[in-house]
Amino acid sequence: MQYKVFGCKVNKYYTDRWLNSEYLSDKTGTFVASCVVTDSAKRKWVRFVKKELESTSKNGKIYISWCGAFKDGKAQDDFFEIYPDLAYAKEKIEVLDEAPIEDTPKKSLREDEQQEVNNKASTKSPKPRIDLSKLKAAQKTQIYTKKFILIQWGCDSFCTFCLTVQKRGRHYYRAAEDIIDEIKNFESEGWKEVVLTGVNLSAWWLENTHDIQNFSQDLVKNWISWWWSRFAELLRELLDNTSIPRIRISSLGPEFIDDAVIKILWEERIYPHFHFSVQSGSTNTLKSMARHYDGEYMKRLLWKIRNIKREDGVEISIGADLIVWFPGESEQDFMDTYNLVKDYKITKLHAFPFSAHTMWESVPAGKFKNQVSENIKKDRMNRLMELWEQVRETFKSSQKWKVLKVLIEKSDNTWWSGWSENYIECDNNNIEIIAGIPKKNNIVVWKYI
Ligand code: SF4
Repeated sequence: MQYKVFGCKVNKYYTDRWLNSEYLSDKTGTFVASCVVTDSAKRKWVRFVKKELESTSKNGKIYISWCGAFKDGKAQDDFFEIYPDLAYAKEKIEVLDEAPIEDTPKKSLREDEQQEVNNKASTKSPKPRIDLSKLKAAQKTQIYTKKFILIQWGCDSFCTFCLTVQKRGRHYYRAAEDIIDEIKNFESEGWKEVVLTGVNLSAWWLENTHDIQNFSQDLVKNWISWWWSRFAELLRELLDNTSIPRIRISSLGPEFIDDAVIKILWEERIYPHFHFSVQSGSTNTLKSMARHYDGEYMKRLLWKIRNIKREDGVEISIGADLIVWFPGESEQDFMDTYNLVKDYKITKLHAFPFSAHTMWESVPAGKFKNQVSENIKKDRMNRLMELWEQVRETFKSSQKWKVLKVLIEKSDNTWWSGWSENYIECDNNNIEIIAGIPKKNNIVVWKYI
């Protein structure tokens, strides 16, 4: 089965699942993981599907899953009403659920929830646990050198620019032992890196991602985080119960990152690249986005991250998702975002132009007044990208002649490539190998030249 992944790491995790599923095992055609993060993201996969339809064989079909295909995690019955552009090919398109039925992961239940389930035993039962032996048997396709491990799903935060939250359903998370089993399964096959992923993964173990409402901003502001995030505990358990050399963490909700989490990020097996879904540096803009933190909180968090002193002495790289042109964004609001990138050396940047989501499905902020005018939009995105390129080049130059490690992800007889632990892309041309053989899935020690 051919496949095309649009969007985030959660999509990569599920594409791996669907491609190894019993349901698709005897089917032909193309699997498409769709994304609705912006209007242009929607246009991209709709265009791809139309093109694929032209060449799909008589018995083949296009299997569409993920955010463009479902609501609250379930395949949308009104898919062709929402995407009338594809209605002409109803016979050749199949809309799929979030996950193949055989491996929908288990939701971890706390005592009170388990009691509730027991009380309602007749009406509702916990989700089936992932059957790893079945997965192992079914694992035909290994798409990536690293493995995306889903630890959390869904979200309850309803940020005003976000369509994803309408699609993915409510927040829940996976039991630690379930996650550990899947990592041990993967490392037992000799693989070297896992990527923890989710929609709001640092909210692991929380009742819902809105929990932060119960805390006064003063508590947050004063760095007192005495118990709420158990994301740190999960990381500790993964470090203690697995031996996988590299644990990478994908996009983090800043509001759930407390001192306990920051302390764990010093450890050598935690991949020293930390990406935050920041969205803006401006308190005004964050407020109208309905985010759970303000500009001051973000500065303090990035200051702490930037000052992490790693056990292995590696200088960390910081990544951020940022939205530019959010309705009402003043020049000062923009500069607050711009200065975050400059002052805290954001070395990996996903800068999204605000999308009013006028195509097919919409978001609250799409109807906000004071949308930013076209001429300002272009100027701001150019300035931000220019700054980011400078920051990135300065960071890469600062790593010159440093001894680092790289996981070889692609290789053939003459060429190979991979990523350093602090997210610098490298290949034969820019590094000198000190130790190790540059073969796929090998970690080699190198000097960046
Ligand atoms: S935290 Fe906000 S942006 Fe992220 S998934 Fe939830 S609602 Fe969307």
